[in-house]
Amino acid sequence: MKPFAVISDVHANLEALSAVLKDIEREKLDTIFFLGDSVGYGPDPNECTEVLRDRARILLLGNHDLAAAGKSDLTFFNPAAKAAIKWTIEVLSNENTEFLRSLPLTEKIKEYDVFLVHATPEEPGQWHYLTNEYNARINFEYFDERICFLGHSHIPFIAELSSAGEITFHYSYAEIDETSRYIVNAGSVGQPRDGDPGAAYVLFKENSMEIRRVSYDIVITQNKMKKAGLPEDLIYRLSAGR
Ligand code: ZN
Repeated sequence: MKPFAVISDVHANLEALSAVLKDIEREKLDTIFFLGDSVGYGPDPNECTEVLRDRARILLLGNHDLAAAGKSDLTFFNPAAKAAIKWTIEVLSNENTEFLRSLPLTEKIKEYDVFLVHATPEEPGQWHYLTNEYNARINFEYFDERICFLGHSHIPFIAELSSAGEITFHYSYAEIDETSRYIVNAGSVGQPRDGDPGAAYVLFKENSMEIRRVSYDIVITQNKMKKAGLPEDLIYRLSAGR
């Protein structure tokens, strides 16, 4: 099987996205699947949407994309996220708004036997978080493919369901066992929340999956956010990785 990269939750962070794309190029991969949330939080929503549209083979819809495209009410967003979405709605071009609106919630890719979703296979449009063994076990029932890639929580992991029914979490690397199934959270390119501020994504190779971390110039992004008047909390959390 040809190797590929899975990226998620770019959140309008162009510096992080560019660093990740460079890392993918160094690995000589040209197949990229993107799991949603092009925009929200960060200062470059138009640029990120356009770069992703150009470079990713598949793009999915995330909850921030939906909100920025004016298609969801903002009740479920915290005040900082809400402020960023309102700013994004103002600066997003009509073409990019239309494009985000057109994205699907899930995709299946036959040749790789993978299922792609932003939040959860169980209820893709309800934006639940899948973060523990209990939820992983339930969600393994909701896709038929061998591997499901998802994002949304910004915390990367590889959850392996063995043929004996045991679930093991891996946090940086996993050899692929032909008899296991997997749920893989690709983490977040543009706003990691696992304590490591490096942009996260997943490299899938023939016999392994690796959660990569890529450093980028966070200060450039933070300065752009200050200029745009985006909330302090969002600016600070990039350097904390929280
Ligand atoms: Zn997100």
